[in-house]
Amino acid sequence: LKQWLRGYLKLNGLLTLSVFAVLAGCLLGFMLRGSHLSTQAKIYFSFPGELLMRVLKMLILPLITSSLMSGLSSMESKACCRVGVLTVTYYLWTTFIAVVVGILLVIIIKPGVGTEMDSIRLGGGPVMTSADALLDLIRNMVPSNLIEATFQQYKTDLVRILKVPRVTVQPNFVYIMPDDSGPTGRTVFLELTPPPDIHYKTRAGSNQQMNVLGIVIFSATMGLLLGKIGERGAPLVNLCQCINECVMKIINTAVWYFPFGIIFLVAGKILDMQDPSTLGKKLGWYTVTVLAGLFVHGLILLPFFYLILTRKNPFTFIRGLLQALVIALATSSSSATLPITMKCLLENCNVDRQIARFVLPVGATINMDGTALYEAVAAIFIAQVNDYELDFSQLVTISITATAASIGAAGIPQAGLVTMVIVLTSVGLPPDDITLIVTIDWVLDRFRTMINVLGDALAAGIIGHLCQKDFPRRPTGKNGVPMTEL
Ligand code: ASP
Repeated sequence: LKQWLRGYLKLNGLLTLSVFAVLAGCLLGFMLRGSHLSTQAKIYFSFPGELLMRVLKMLILPLITSSLMSGLSSMESKACCRVGVLTVTYYLWTTFIAVVVGILLVIIIKPGVGTEMDSIRLGGGPVMTSADALLDLIRNMVPSNLIEATFQQYKTDLVRILKVPRVTVQPNFVYIMPDDSGPTGRTVFLELTPPPDIHYKTRAGSNQQMNVLGIVIFSATMGLLLGKIGERGAPLVNLCQCINECVMKIINTAVWYFPFGIIFLVAGKILDMQDPSTLGKKLGWYTVTVLAGLFVHGLILLPFFYLILTRKNPFTFIRGLLQALVIALATSSSSATLPITMKCLLENCNVDRQIARFVLPVGATINMDGTALYEAVAAIFIAQVNDYELDFSQLVTISITATAASIGAAGIPQAGLVTMVIVLTSVGLPPDDITLIVTIDWVLDRFRTMINVLGDALAAGIIGHLCQKDFPRRPTGKNGVPMTEL
């Protein structure tokens, strides 16, 4: 038994620790909820979790730029084209399937039909059309200032998309002030509880969100061109390869801190959570519908596609990804999880390095099956609550806008909640009704982020298999680095 235990811990020690950390975080959070900690105490308490997020976010930029530049520079242009077209087609297709699953389930379960439900109507809501959202997506693809793209965008995008004068973006919260002139000063549009005081905002807050899509597009273009200019590009390609290897080494060391950080990240969130007893029956059924949809899509349909397309066991593949899924659950951010997803794919799932370097960063930015499914369910739920009959053409509109809104959502906590305004306005539903689902959103966000990450990783597995002949398999060593490069 001792030997078995030792062997098990060697293979799965970190994963086991991370799972225990999530459970310990839940336990600690619920235990401390009664103790009414001061805001200051909460800041200190959440600090180890904040540090974990910072480490992950720190790695996103070097990982994406070095992965894409070095990965694409060594691909043949024909192979690049094939991988690119396959990736984007696969992503769009699976996102659309996720939306259809969500729509079917919400129509069958009907979580919003029944007695009235209170919503907080704030009036003067924002107007955002699908055209605005599309323009914004394209705008993000072409950052006007690369340096700026690495640390802002999200906030100004929100102001522009929602046509509001001001927003405040926190690591986990978005405050939107639609109306400055209100006599009572009641200007919070998305009110996430508990209302944080100014001190919390300024101390823990960071208004900076990276425009990952813009960086992905720029790095991919650079990578393709580096491949074309040949020898002259070699120093930059070498530099990118060095950065990439160092980032993977940092990840390998930092992961041992993660279980500790996860405890405080999860516990801190539970401390801030609204009392679940106020959720009510409808919201309960809404939660069940979203979770059922995520389950069907993530654990039945996506694995089925993997099985059909690769003839390999999808659950062996998913097993190798568990570490990334736990981090997605703990952080609610597919961008922050990217370094760990990359590590799992290269070390456990044996996906070709070049494929992973391209498919994953693109996926973390545009492929969000969980978010798309959730947006469709939430929009139809809000229609049901308002007793608003949706005809077939409106359902088609929802499926298209939910797909677009998920592509436009950043891989950060609760981004899907914000882009949902597009879906609601596209069929004439009141955007303010987002407040109906806001209380439970942070929980659903964690699960949909897991499915977003799973979708990206399975895509890398499938595309790696389909493009095998473009990239003859080289034996990989630690960190997925080919033996010849070790
Ligand atoms: N948190 C999600 C992600 O990072 C996005 C969302 O649905 O809000 O993938």
